[in-house]
Amino acid sequence: MSEFVIPTPQVATIPVDGGGSFPVRRVYCIGRNYAAHAVEMGHDPDREPPFFFQKNPNNLDASGEFPYPLHTSDVHHEVEMLVALKSGGTNIKLEDALNHVWGYGASLDMTRRDLQGEQKKMGRPWEIGKAFERSGPVGPLKHVSETGHLDAGRIELKVNGKVKQEGDLNQMIWKVPEMISYLSEYFELAAGDVIMSGTPSGVGPITKGDVMEINIEGLDSLTVTVV
Ligand code: MN
Repeated sequence: MSEFVIPTPQVATIPVDGGGSFPVRRVYCIGRNYAAHAVEMGHDPDREPPFFFQKNPNNLDASGEFPYPLHTSDVHHEVEMLVALKSGGTNIKLEDALNHVWGYGASLDMTRRDLQGEQKKMGRPWEIGKAFERSGPVGPLKHVSETGHLDAGRIELKVNGKVKQEGDLNQMIWKVPEMISYLSEYFELAAGDVIMSGTPSGVGPITKGDVMEINIEGLDSLTVTVV
């Protein structure tokens, strides 16, 4: 192989519970995957085809700190379960989808809601609202042999000790196997791809100094401080 002409960018990773790290290739995020959240964002909760956007792998951040980003005054928390894939392919069958899962983790889809709102209004892409620096706080991944496949269980987010978001993983409109199968019809999935599986209702703003605590049944709790 010929030599790189600039320093090699670092591979983005998520730490693994018990040691090691998971290299991240792509980050897919599903929109409006809990009915109550679709309603709070002003949309019909009916089961329309799912839609996805992407964050960048190096937007993920396991430091436990979220720096309040620039050019916004309305940053929202969205607690989400993250699904990490150990393999992929195209046109993955529903009944085969879970065989591609390496494990699960807790994550936040931090959103510059004001900027996202402007982009929506103008029919523009969402990157400026969604795919900014350190916009994806994550906790350590757990292997599926420890967790089983997480298709039910409480998901909640507290800010400064007060519950702001709560729901159950079984309330997802599109289940994990359906997301994998659907994505694989439009993209070639591969080892290292992760999917943020949507947020329950109760999204809202945070400010510097806030402490966000994420609890997803079956996973370790994750604390992220806004700095
Ligand atoms: Mn989200």
